[in-house]
Amino acid sequence: MNKVHFVGAGPGDKELITLKGYRHLQTADIVIYAGSLVNPELLTYCKPECEIHDSASMDLGQIIEVMERGLRENKKVVRLQTGDFSIYGSIREQAEELGKLGLQYDCTPGVSSFLGAASALGAEYTVPEVSQSVIITRAEGRTPVPSKESIRSYAQHQTSMVIFLSVQMIEKVVTELIEGGYRETTPIAIVYKATWPDEKILKGTLKDIVQKVKEDGITKTALILVGEFLGDTYNYSKLYDKDFSHEYRG
Ligand code: SAH
Repeated sequence: MNKVHFVGAGPGDKELITLKGYRHLQTADIVIYAGSLVNPELLTYCKPECEIHDSASMDLGQIIEVMERGLRENKKVVRLQTGDFSIYGSIREQAEELGKLGLQYDCTPGVSSFLGAASALGAEYTVPEVSQSVIITRAEGRTPVPSKESIRSYAQHQTSMVIFLSVQMIEKVVTELIEGGYRETTPIAIVYKATWPDEKILKGTLKDIVQKVKEDGITKTALILVGEFLGDTYNYSKLYDKDFSHEYRG
C-alpha cells in the first residue's frame, strides 16, 4: 500500500520547496495543505485533477479520514505543511493516528520560517564570539509551555533566540526577555511573512520594538528574532583564517 507523504512546503516563496517535495506535489492524487500558512501558489505544481483539501477547516479526524480513504483507493496522498513539520508542525499526532490504522508515512523536510527570516535579514544566528547557539521557542498561549522553558529562563543565556507564534503577545515577550537578562539595547527584529511577496521587517531594540509593532499592526505570521547577532559587533570566523586547517571548511 502507498504511504502518506508529509512534505515541508517552505516558508512561503513557492520556489523554496525541495526538489523532492516538488516531485511529490507533481504526482499527487490528493493534497491536504495548511491553507492559513502554505502559499497556495504551490498547488499550481499539482496535476489539474488532483483533489485538494485545506486543513484549516478540518479537524484531526477528518484529515486522517481523507488520508485513509486515499491510501485504500491506492492514491498518492501528500500532506503539505508550512515551513518544516518538525517545528510546531503537529506531525506527531497525525503519525500516531496513522499508526493506529496500520498506515505508513514518510517525510520530506522543508525550509523552516526561522531560516527564511534569517535570509530575509541576511543574518547569521551563530556569529563567532557573539553567539554560538540558537534557541527556538514560543510564548505560552492556548498551548501550555513547560515552566522550565519560559522565555524568561532562556533569556539568561542572552544568545540568539527565535520566537514563533507569539507576535500578538509582543509586550509580554519583551518584558520577559528583559526581566530574564537581555539588556534594553539588545537588537530585535520582527519578520512578517518571510520570503512572501508581502514580507515586512521591523527592526529595533527591546526598548522600542513594542511601539513599532503596535504602530504597524502585525499580529500574526511573524517571527521575533532577538540577540546581539543582529547587532554591529562581530568577529571573523577562524574557519577562513589563513592559518586555519582546511579540513573543517564547509
Ligand atoms: N512549521 C512552521 C511553523 C509553524 S507554526 C515552520 O517551520 O516555519 C506557525 C508560526 O510560524 C507562525 O505563527 C509564525 O510565527 C511562524 N511563521 C510561519 N511562516 C512564517 C513566515 N513566512 N514568516 C514569518 N513567520 C512565519
